Amino acid sequence: KADLALSAAKESGKNGLHFFDPAIQDEVSARLRLENEIRLGLQNGEFIVYYQPQIDAQGNLRGAEALVRWQHPQRGLLAPGFFLPAAERAGLLQQMDRQVFDTACRQLAHWASHPQLNRMSVSVNISAVQLHQADFVQQILDGLARHDAPASMLMLELTESLLVGDLAKARSHMKEIKQHGVRFALDDFGTGYSSLSYLPQLPLDELKIDQSFVRSLPADNGNLAIIHAITALAASFGFEVVAEGVETEAQLAILAGCGCLRYQGYLFAKPMSAEALEQFAADRQPHPLLSQLILQ
Ligand code: C2E
Ligand code: MG
Ligand code: MG
Ligand code: MG
Repeated sequence: KADLALSAAKESGKNGLHFFDPAIQDEVSARLRLENEIRLGLQNGEFIVYYQPQIDAQGNLRGAEALVRWQHPQRGLLAPGFFLPAAERAGLLQQMDRQVFDTACRQLAHWASHPQLNRMSVSVNISAVQLHQADFVQQILDGLARHDAPASMLMLELTESLLVGDLAKARSHMKEIKQHGVRFALDDFGTGYSSLSYLPQLPLDELKIDQSFVRSLPADNGNLAIIHAITALAASFGFEVVAEGVETEAQLAILAGCGCLRYQGYLFAKPMSAEALEQFAADRQPHPLLSQLILQ
């Protein structure tokens, strides 16, 4: 409906016709306004990167996921749910991805010589357009080289749906990048509805259990069974496994019991600025429940 209205809007620009339905007209103009604001925001450097800690079974900071945020001049800090779909529609995702990746590489280079952060990884989300670009490999290597950032600290997050298009091409891009020491994680694992046959074909290092499976713990036995299956699958492939969306100690205990030993979630920390992450690392105390689990 909105797409029809949008093409109608373009038409009306040509021949001066107006809409019959004011509600659609409002929707279309709000959409166009948002897309224009994103375009301007990209020019003005309003898109910034937050980092969410990933914690290992010893309670140490082992990595952080880079997550884009929009520092909107009027509306404050906005999460990707608010602007990523519009950016994609407007063909601006590529530009945004490049900015995020560049910022993450600059940060990575800085952290490489930081006493508390030099052993962690920084994970960056890769979108479908990016992975399938002909110069994807070069983009990644150039970004690292531009800031003299160590490839071994970089992890790229892909989703299953992104692999559906051209598996052979995705694989060859991944293999080439991996030769330089960059690692790959499969994000939102278990939500892609695809077959598992691609798993042995891809040079992956990590599976991320989607937060939809974690959220309903401990009540949901079905999701508990899925988490068991994912950790077993990861172990047999030799992949690391990270649980997303860990919010409670009960969830943490269950995940640890399933053999999932890496966690990302509000129980430990929300996404934060780079400076806040440095402070987080400096203040870091072992998590009491984690220490208990290790002592057992
Ligand atoms: P994702 O890659 O699966 O990232 C995890 C999301 O879960 C983040 O949402 C994070 O803030 C949220 N999260 C983490 N722990 C918890 C928790 O304990 N409880 C709850 N309720 N949520 C938690 P965010 O930052 O809003 O990002 C949403 C999605 O947007 C990401 O999902 C990713 O698919 C996409 N995204 C974010 N940044 C980028 C980017 O730079 N490039 C691209 N292409 N996509 C991005
Ligand atoms: Mg992710
Ligand atoms: Mg995820
Ligand atoms: Mg997700």
